[in-house]
Amino acid sequence: MDFEFSAEQTAFKTEVERFLDEHQHPDVMEVTRENMAQLVDTPPRRAFMKKMAERGWLGITWPKEYGGQEGDGVYEYLLNESLARRGAPQIGKGVGIIGKTLIRHGSEKLKREFLPKNLRNEVEFAIGYTEPQAGSDAAAMALRAVREGDGWRLNGQKIFTTSAHFAEWYWVGARTDPDAPKHHGITLFLVKLDDPGLKVYPMPTIGDEITNQVYFDNVFVPDAYRVGELNRGFQYISEALDLERFTMFTFSPIQQRMEELCDYVRTEERDGRPLREDPIVRRRIARLATQTEVARVLGLRFVAKSMQGGAAPTVEASQYKLFATELSKRVADAAVDIGGPGAQLRVHTAEAPMRGRAELTYRYTVVDTIGGGASEIQKNIIARRKLGLPKNF
Ligand SMILES: Cc1cc2nc3c(=O)[nH]c(=O)nc-3n(C[C@H](O)[C@H](O)[C@H](O)COP(=O)(O)OP(=O)(O)OC[C@H]3O[C@@H](n4cnc5c(N)ncnc54)[C@H](O)[C@@H]3O)c2cc1C
Repeated sequence: MDFEFSAEQTAFKTEVERFLDEHQHPDVMEVTRENMAQLVDTPPRRAFMKKMAERGWLGITWPKEYGGQEGDGVYEYLLNESLARRGAPQIGKGVGIIGKTLIRHGSEKLKREFLPKNLRNEVEFAIGYTEPQAGSDAAAMALRAVREGDGWRLNGQKIFTTSAHFAEWYWVGARTDPDAPKHHGITLFLVKLDDPGLKVYPMPTIGDEITNQVYFDNVFVPDAYRVGELNRGFQYISEALDLERFTMFTFSPIQQRMEELCDYVRTEERDGRPLREDPIVRRRIARLATQTEVARVLGLRFVAKSMQGGAAPTVEASQYKLFATELSKRVADAAVDIGGPGAQLRVHTAEAPMRGRAELTYRYTVVDTIGGGASEIQKNIIARRKLGLPKNF
């Protein structure tokens, strides 16, 4: 088994890093936005993505038929991780989740309408699965879609819809058959976010960024904007979630925060003694460094499995997401403990150790263990799909 990248892959990474150096600007790249840095939510971030599009870096793995390059997933991985390391906007949502699901299941009309716009970065999406009574159990979603003429009338509520305050299109699951078993009565739609029947209300998170509640009041969606087959939406959503669990919870920020913590331990003193000589600190750092390597390899396993074709690998996605996001929390806990009282100073405070990222990531990393399916749900998936254990609910 070879864990190293080939010369061609390394050259690609160098090219990406050079491009990022050329476009380094605080309006485009901001590591302290943590995982929300991936959003393409401001004009400078959109302009930056357009430049990436001109390079052909969106749709690296897509079929040539839809403007892609049919390249290996490892290039997409290298690109996304380099972007994440700088706090730059990323390709996970439009090109990854929406684009790849449309390629597999969308009608020819939807492919022709959306895929070229995705590749040119001319459209942003919000994703609406979660509802107040349907979070971990997404199949319990109740937002209702009722057939009317050549389309559907949607009424109900979504919650935790990130990006709904700036995106143009809404990727929404709705109940089309209330009498069918819950996993078989959901259909996926694309809805215009400027529809007058939609009301978007921001919700602040403990990670300083916002997500949204969205209310649907008689929103009409033409049947042509139904994604895939009627009542098969939950199957498509499950596939899309496997992609989300990998591409939207990147590894390089964890590695970067570990490096920051190690630098701190290497150079600082506590009570007149170098931190690096404290056996408890050393043991904790050694354990975290080893776990960071495990997270990296779990990510590579997902990439390797994905490159075999078909839908994204479910178990590998859950294993990676569970391990990486829980590790991210442990690194943040260690930074706050080892950094002492000063580690509670906010980011951008001059005196704060580790540039104040300890305090911020202590709050933010909790969010990553919930979004895209909470840790307990990932454990359930691994227990059932990998270990063959019975369903617990
Ligand atoms: C910042 C942020 C952004 C988000 N963005 C989006 C978005 O853009 N689009 C979207 O659709 N959703 C989004 N979500 C929603 C996210 O997917 C849900 O929060 C998540 O699925 C958990 O659902 P819940 O909050 O309703 O918690 P619940 O489902 O109520 O879970 C509460 C607790 O119970 C545990 N639990 C639940 N069921 C089980 C079980 N069967 N076995 C063991 N434990 C269980 C959970 O793990 C959790 O610890 C976002 C969430 C956050 C925090």
